[in-house]
Amino acid sequence: MTDGHTSSTRHEAEVVVIGAGLSGLAAVIALRRAGFDDVVVLEKSGRLGGTWRDNTYPGCGCDVPSVLYEYSFAPHSWSRGFADRSEILDYLGTTAATHGADKVIRYDTEVLSSRWDRETHRWSLKTTSGTYTTRAVIVATGPWHRPRHPDVPGLGTFPGTVFHSARWNHEVDLTGQRVAVVGTGASTVQFLPEIQPKAAHVAVFQSTPQWVLPKPDYPLPSGLHDFFAHHPAARRALRGLHRWTQEAIGVPLRHPHLLGPLEALARFHLRTSVRDRVLRRALTPEYRFGGRRLITSSTYYPTLTQPNVRLHPTRVTAVKGSDVIGADGTRTRADIIVLATGYHIGDLPLAPHLHGTDGTLAQTWADNRRAYLGTSVSGYPNLFLLLGPNLLTGTTAVPTVLEAQLRYITAALNHLRASGASALDVKPEAEAAHQRALHEALRTTVYNATGTSYYFGLPGINTFCWPWSTARLIKRLTAFNPDIYAWTMPLPTQTGTERDALPTRPSSRPG
Ligand SMILES: Cc1cc2nc3c(=O)[nH]c(=O)nc-3n(C[C@H](O)[C@H](O)[C@H](O)COP(=O)(O)OP(=O)(O)OC[C@H]3O[C@@H](n4cnc5c(N)ncnc54)[C@H](O)[C@@H]3O)c2cc1C
Repeated sequence: MTDGHTSSTRHEAEVVVIGAGLSGLAAVIALRRAGFDDVVVLEKSGRLGGTWRDNTYPGCGCDVPSVLYEYSFAPHSWSRGFADRSEILDYLGTTAATHGADKVIRYDTEVLSSRWDRETHRWSLKTTSGTYTTRAVIVATGPWHRPRHPDVPGLGTFPGTVFHSARWNHEVDLTGQRVAVVGTGASTVQFLPEIQPKAAHVAVFQSTPQWVLPKPDYPLPSGLHDFFAHHPAARRALRGLHRWTQEAIGVPLRHPHLLGPLEALARFHLRTSVRDRVLRRALTPEYRFGGRRLITSSTYYPTLTQPNVRLHPTRVTAVKGSDVIGADGTRTRADIIVLATGYHIGDLPLAPHLHGTDGTLAQTWADNRRAYLGTSVSGYPNLFLLLGPNLLTGTTAVPTVLEAQLRYITAALNHLRASGASALDVKPEAEAAHQRALHEALRTTVYNATGTSYYFGLPGINTFCWPWSTARLIKRLTAFNPDIYAWTMPLPTQTGTERDALPTRPSSRPG
C-alpha cells in the first residue's frame, strides 16, 4: 500500500465507514437508523461481502449456527443449520439492498491513508478515488482479511500450482491430482471432505492437532420457515438457546478446571470416527481444549481415514522440485499445493497509514494492540474500530458483538452531536485500566494456555480474546460512558493555532 496515486477529487461526509463486509454494512444501517444520513462506505473491491466474497473454497461456510450468523434486525430463512458462503453472501447483498446500504457504497475505492487534522478536527482519508474528509471514521476492514503465506524454502520454484485456500484457484481441476495441503485449521476441515473424492492423493501436513467437536449441520425443513414467520417468539427462543449454549461452552474456557466434559466429548468424537490408533494419536492435541480456535466438523475425521488421504503430523520445512518435505523427513510428491495457513489475524493493514494525534496506529500498537472495549484507541479521536482487539472468544458469533459495538458507537456519535463538541478521545488512563484488567483476567483462561496460538497477535500477548462472558461484553458496550472520554469543544472564532493551544483532552464530559 502506498499513499500516492490518488485522484484529486474531494468528497465530504459526516461519517466514513471503511469496508463493506458484514461489519461495514451493519454500521451504515445502524447509523442511518440512528439518524445519521450523511454516511459513505469505502470499499476497495468491486463487490460487497468481505470474507464471504473472498473465500470461495469448496465447502466454505459458517461454523456457528446460521440463526446466530445474521443481523438481529434482519432474520433470515436459512436453508441449513450452518449456512454456506454463497447463502451468507446473498443474505448480505439482500439486506444491504433492503436497507439502502448498497446506495452509499463507493466501490473500487481503497483507503490508502487517514490523517487526523488537529486544526479542523476532521479526518482526511486519501483513497484511490480522491480524498474524503469526515468528522468520524469507522474502521471495518475485517480481522480475517489478509491471508498468511508461509515462508517455505523452495515454494517459489515448485513446478505445479500453489494457491492459498482463502483465494481458491478455481481454474485448477483437482481430479486425479496429487494435492498437498499445508495446515489443518478451520478452512481445511471444510474443504478437505470436498476435494478428497476428486483427488488421486491428498497429503495433509499438520503442525498442531486441533480439538474437533461434531457439527450438527442439517438442511432445515422449509415448513420451519413458515412456522417461524407465524411464531417469531419461537425463533427468538431458538436464537436464545444457541446463544446460551455458546455462553455455556465459554464457562469452562474461562475456568479450565471445568474442561473435562468438553475434552471427553471431543475424544469420544475422535475415537468413534478414527479406528486407527496411530492416526488417532497423531490427531490428539497435547494442549487443553480451547487453547486454540475451536473446530467443528463431523466429516473431517472420517475423510482422514480414506485410502487416498495421508496425514503427516509435521510442519512443512521445504519444497524441492515436486516434493513437499516435512520437519520429520517426510517427502511426498505433489502436483498442487494448497496453503491453508490462515490469516494475519487482526493486524489491520491500514495501521501504518492511520495518523492520529501523535503518530500512526502501527507505532501506538508496536508493543500491544490496545483499545478501550476493542473500539476506541486513545490518540485517535472520533475513530472507532469494529471487531478491534480483545473482543472475541473461541465461541462468540461475530454479529452479536458487532451489533453491541454499533450501539456503543451510535451512542458516542449522538453525544458528539448533542454536545456540540468537535472531538471525543478515550482517556489514556481509562484505556490503560481496561487493558490491565483484561490481561489480568486472560491469564487464567485457557485462551492463554498455549502462548502461541492465533490468539497471540504479538509475541506473548493475546490480542484476540475477551476474557469474560459475551453477556458481560454486551452489557459494557450497551452502557456508553461519556466520562471516560475527553471532549474537545470548538470555539467559533478560534484560529487553528489557538485551537492547538487548547487542552486537547478536557476531562469534563460535555453538557
Ligand atoms: C473462512 C472464514 C469463515 C468464518 N466463519 C465464521 C463463522 O462461522 N462465524 C463467525 O462469527 N465468524 C466467522 N468468520 C469471521 C468473519 O470474518 C466475520 O464473521 C465477518 O465476516 C467479518 O466481517 P468484517 O466486515 O468485519 O470483515 P470482512 O468480511 O473481512 O470485510 C472487510 C472489508 O473491508 C474491505 N477493505 C479492507 N481494507 C480496505 C481498505 N484499505 N479500503 C477499503 N476497503 C477495505 C475488504 O475488501 C472487505 O470487503 C469467518 C472467517 C473466515 C475467513
